Amino acid sequence: DLKSVDHSLGATLNNGPGLSISKQLIAQALKTRVDSIDPDTCDLGDDDAFFVADLGEVYRQHMRWKKNLARVKPHYAVKCNPDPRVIHLMKQLGMGFDCASMNEIETVLGMGVDPSRIIYAQPVKTKAYMRYAARSGVKQMTFDNLDELYKVKQLTPDAELYLRILTDDSASLCQLSNKFGASTNDTGDLLELARKLDLNVVGVAFHVGSGASDPQAFLKAVQDARFVFDQAEALGFTMHTLDVGGGFTGDASFEAMAAVLSDALDAYFPPHVRIIGEPGRYYVATAFTIACSVIGRRTVNDATLGTTSYMLYMNDGVYGNFSCIPFDHQKPTPRVLKCAADPINFLYDTHTSGYDTPSMTEYSIWGPTCDGIDKIPDTHCFAQVMNIGDWLYFEDMGAYTKCSATPFNGFPSAHDTIYVCSEPGAASLLEL
Ligand code: PLP
Repeated sequence: DLKSVDHSLGATLNNGPGLSISKQLIAQALKTRVDSIDPDTCDLGDDDAFFVADLGEVYRQHMRWKKNLARVKPHYAVKCNPDPRVIHLMKQLGMGFDCASMNEIETVLGMGVDPSRIIYAQPVKTKAYMRYAARSGVKQMTFDNLDELYKVKQLTPDAELYLRILTDDSASLCQLSNKFGASTNDTGDLLELARKLDLNVVGVAFHVGSGASDPQAFLKAVQDARFVFDQAEALGFTMHTLDVGGGFTGDASFEAMAAVLSDALDAYFPPHVRIIGEPGRYYVATAFTIACSVIGRRTVNDATLGTTSYMLYMNDGVYGNFSCIPFDHQKPTPRVLKCAADPINFLYDTHTSGYDTPSMTEYSIWGPTCDGIDKIPDTHCFAQVMNIGDWLYFEDMGAYTKCSATPFNGFPSAHDTIYVCSEPGAASLLEL
C-alpha cells in the first residue's frame, strides 16, 4: 500500500550516508522483504526475485520532461513496462499512451483512459486488432506502406493517420529503421494513395531508435518531417500533429538531446502544430530495482593460475527479467544486498571502486535455466564471499525487462513489485 510508505524512513536509515531519499526508501523496502525470508522454511514463491519500484522517480522524470520538452506531450510507450501502477500514475499526470497491440490498448482503456489519449503506433497492424481499435474509438494510428493503407480503408476508414518516416538510427542502442519507416522518396506515393482512398492523414511520426545517443538524428528527422508535412499539405491534407517518437534515455544526456530537439521543433514547426512523443525507457528505467537470491554456487579452482573463482546461480536470468541482456543490449550490474557471511553490513551500497583489490572474490553470475547463455555479462568482484541464500540487487531494471520475460523451463515470469514513492508531490496521484 503506497499510502503506508513512511517518507521519514529514508532519513533515519543508517546504511548509506549520502544516498538519495529514493535509494534509501528502496533500501528499506529491499531490507524489509529480504529480512522476512528464510529460504529453508518460507512458502513456495516467497523467495522468488522481486522488484522495488519508486514511483517518485517516474514523477520526477515527468517534471524533467516538462521542463526540457515543454512543447512535446508524452505518450508513454506501454511496451517498455506495462506496470499498472506506472500507467495509473501517468494517467493521473495527464499523459497519453503509445500502444502497439490490442492487449496494450485494452490495458490502457481498462484503466479508464479516454481513447483519444491513445496512439496505435504500429505501422503494420493485425487486422483483428484494427477492428478492435475501431470498436474502441482509438483513431490515431501510424502507417508506412501502401498495403497498410488498403487495410486502413477496409477496417478503420475514420482513422487519424500518421505517416512514419525513416530515420538515421545508426547511433542508437536498438535499431528500428531496418523494419519501419518510409523513405522520403516514397512518401509522395503513399500520400497520393491515401488521398485517392479518401483517408485522413493528420501527421508525421518518426523514431530515431531506442537508446538514442546522437542529437543530430532528431534534427534530421524533424527536417524530413517538415518536408513530408509540406508534401501532404500540397495534396490538401490538414496536417496538425508531429510525433517525435521515443529514443530518449534518462541519463545526463537527456538535457542536451532535448535542447537540440526543441530548437529544431521551433525552427521547423510553428506553435500551432501539436507535438507528441512516445518515450518509454526514459520514464521507467531508473525507477525499478530487482532483488535476486543466490540459489547455488560452484567453486572453480584454476591450478595453473593458482586462483579460485566462483560461479553463482541466481533465481532469475536472461529468460526472465534479465531479458534486457539479449533484447535490449544491457549489462546490468550486480551489487550485494544481503550476505550472511558478513551479517553486520546489510548492504545497499554504492560501491563501484576497488573491484581490483586482490582480496576481492571474483564471480560469474548465472540464471536458473538449463541454458549456457543464461548468464549476466562479465565477471564481478565482491568484497564478501557469497553463499547460497544470499541476495543480490540490480538497479535500473525498469525498461524492457519484465515485459519480455518468458516462462522458459517453468520458472515464474511474473514477480512481485513493492512500490515506494520518494516524491511527496506524487502521493495524491497514486491512489487507485
Ligand atoms: N515508439 C515506438 C513505435 C517504438 O517502437 C518504441 C520502442 O521500440 C518506443 C516508442 C519507445 O522507445 P524508447 O523506449 O526508446 O523511448
